[in-house]
Amino acid sequence: MGVGAADIPLDWKLIDEVKGFMDPEEGRRLYDVAFDAAAIGPGLEIGSYCGKSSIYLGTAFRLRGGILYSVDHHRGSEEQQPGQEYHDPDLVDAAGTGMDTLPHFRRTLGRAGLENTVVPLVCRSETAARAWATPLGLVFIDGGHAFETAYLDYNLWAGHLKIGGYLLIHDLFENPSEGGQAPFEVYKLALASGLFEELPRTRTLGVLRRGPSTDR
Ligand code: SAH
Ligand code: MG
Repeated sequence: MGVGAADIPLDWKLIDEVKGFMDPEEGRRLYDVAFDAAAIGPGLEIGSYCGKSSIYLGTAFRLRGGILYSVDHHRGSEEQQPGQEYHDPDLVDAAGTGMDTLPHFRRTLGRAGLENTVVPLVCRSETAARAWATPLGLVFIDGGHAFETAYLDYNLWAGHLKIGGYLLIHDLFENPSEGGQAPFEVYKLALASGLFEELPRTRTLGVLRRGPSTDR
């Protein structure tokens, strides 16, 4: 059996309660890839939101004694602002004007037992990347979904992957009628770079592995 199987220590009840955008089958794949990646180096996710994907990734890193950095300014993406399609009125800040998902994210980390595994970076992806020097075993891109933002995340972070490290990109839609094309465009650009091997996708989750550099 796949999703929901009792063979992995994921708290499915908690996962179900946490708000977010991660299908359980995709989440299970995040867990599996993170479990392998932890042997290579720490992980970094862009787009913490309320911590749903962090549970899958973080639980695997915890089991392997690893570390997961999770970057989010917690002010929400464009489409999550008040009045927009993906806005959730339960996630507004104390002033009642903008978004603030940080309290929800912290609560999730506590409930999932991940406070000693997940390192929250509460800032823009660009800011976290400015002086970054730690080689990574996994990069998960699930932040802003405008092309400029997703492409910037790829350019800022993919180069920090160690050989054998995993690049994961969420929300790949082959058909424009199913969803925005930016993550898929970035995925195709990553493949075209020749730096990555393509592994099977799980629904809208793309999985690439950094190969050894070739002289070209
Ligand atoms: N992975 C989450 C969903 C992420 S939603 C889950 O499993 O549910 C996208 C998140 O990216 C939002 O919380 C938003 O605040 C964040 N985000 C968007 N652009 C960003 C940027 N440039 N830097 C950091 N975070 C960003
Ligand atoms: Mg997503």
